[in-house]
Amino acid sequence: MNFSVIFSVLIITAAAVAEKISYKGFSVYKLTPKTNDDVLILNHVRTEGVGEFWDDQFYINYGVRIMVPKDNRKRFYDLIKKSSMEPEEAIKDLQGVIDEHLTPGTRNVVSNESFLGMNWNQYHDLGQINKWLDEIVKTYPSIVTSVVMGKSFENRDIKGIIIRYRPRINGTAPFIGMLEGTLHAREWITTATITWIIKEFLTSRNQDVRALAENIEWHIFPVVNPDGYVYTFTTNRMWRKNRSTNNFTSCETSGVSDDMSNGVDLNRNFDFVWMSAGASNNPCTNSFAGPVPFSEPESRAIANYVISLNVQGKMIYYFGFHSYTQLIAIPFSHVTGQDVLLAKNYADMFEISIRGAEKLEQRFGTKYRVGVSADIMYPMSGTSFDWVKHTTNIPVSLLIELRDLGRYGFLLPAEEIIPNNLEIMDALLEMDRTTRRLGYYGN
Ligand SMILES: [Zn+2]
Repeated sequence: MNFSVIFSVLIITAAAVAEKISYKGFSVYKLTPKTNDDVLILNHVRTEGVGEFWDDQFYINYGVRIMVPKDNRKRFYDLIKKSSMEPEEAIKDLQGVIDEHLTPGTRNVVSNESFLGMNWNQYHDLGQINKWLDEIVKTYPSIVTSVVMGKSFENRDIKGIIIRYRPRINGTAPFIGMLEGTLHAREWITTATITWIIKEFLTSRNQDVRALAENIEWHIFPVVNPDGYVYTFTTNRMWRKNRSTNNFTSCETSGVSDDMSNGVDLNRNFDFVWMSAGASNNPCTNSFAGPVPFSEPESRAIANYVISLNVQGKMIYYFGFHSYTQLIAIPFSHVTGQDVLLAKNYADMFEISIRGAEKLEQRFGTKYRVGVSADIMYPMSGTSFDWVKHTTNIPVSLLIELRDLGRYGFLLPAEEIIPNNLEIMDALLEMDRTTRRLGYYGN
C-alpha cells in the first residue's frame, strides 16, 4: 500500500467517524414558559443558537426541552435569567443516555421473549426490522404478505406487511386497520411497539387478541420514514424529519446547523388544514411543513395507500404511533373547545380512547391523557391521522404518544419497551371492545 492509498483510507475513516454527531457534554434542560414574554425569550434563545430545542413551537404552560453543550451553559442561563422560567436539568449527560439506550436492557428485564429472531430488550435498526418482516412472510405464507407502500426520498422501500386471516369476499375486506410507526425518525419506541403488536397478532392465544387480529385485515408499517430512521442510527440520534435535500438553505439566523434544513416534518405535510397551526414554513426548524402539502414522497405514499385501501373494504382503525408524552389524541388537532365536534363521532372516539387509557393504567399505573391535541398538547395541522379521518369515513383514527413524560423523552430506556408494549396492547384491546359495543362492526 503506497502512501497516497494509506492517506485516503485515513481520510475516509476520519470522515465516517466525524459524520456521527456526538452529544458529549450536552445537557437537556426542561423549560416551561408561563407568560408571553417567556415565549418570546424562548424564541430568542433559539435564534441565538445556544442549544437545540426538541420542539420548536412554544406554548404557555407546555414544557419544552433544549439540548445545551457545556460551553454554552453560561450563555444559556444568562438569556433565561430575564424570564420567569426555572430551567430544570432533565438529562445531565445526553451522550451517556444515548449510549446506554443503545445497549440491550439488562435491569428489570420483563421477558426475554423473542420471535423469529426479534426481541424487545433492545432497539433494532431498519435492516433488522425489514429482515424480520421477510422472515414473518416466509413463516406465515398463508396469512402474511409483504407490501411496499412506496419509496422514500433516498429511494428506500417503505415496507410493511398485511396480516389477513380471513380471505376477502369478492375482493372486499370486511374491516381494515392500519398501523403507522416512526413517521418521526427519533421516536424509536413506536417501531418496537408495532413489532410487538405483529408478534401478538400472530402468536397470542388470548381470545381478545385473536378477535382483534382475525376480524380485521391489518396493514402494518413499522417505519414509514426509513431515511430519517436510518439517519438516527448512522448520524444524528435526535433527527425527527425525513431527509429531503430540496429545501437546503443556510440556517445561520435560526441558530442551528445547515443540515437541519435537509428534512420536512412529515406529520405537518398532509393536505388537511396544512400550515394553519403548530407548523413552520422555515426549513431550519423541526416542524417545517414542506413548501407545499404532500411535497414529500413518504407522506404521498401513505396518502395514496390509504386512498386505495378505503375502496377495498371498511376502514375501521388508523393508529399513528409517536412518542413521547403519554396521550391519545383525537382528531382534529387544530381545534379546541366546542369545535372538537367538527369530527362527527368525536364523542365515540373520546369514549373509545378514555376506556383504552383507563385500561392501560391498570397494569403499571401509567397515566395517559385523552383529547384533541390543541387541548392536551399543542395545536397541530397537516398531520397524517387528521388527514385520514377527514379523507376517509374511518370511525377511529388516533395518534398515540407513547412513554414517557419527558424523563428520557425520545431516549426511552430499552428496559421500558416491554412494559410499554404490554400496557398499549391492553389499551388496544379495550378500545376494540368499546368500538364493538358502540356498533362500529355492525351487528
Ligand atoms: Zn412524533
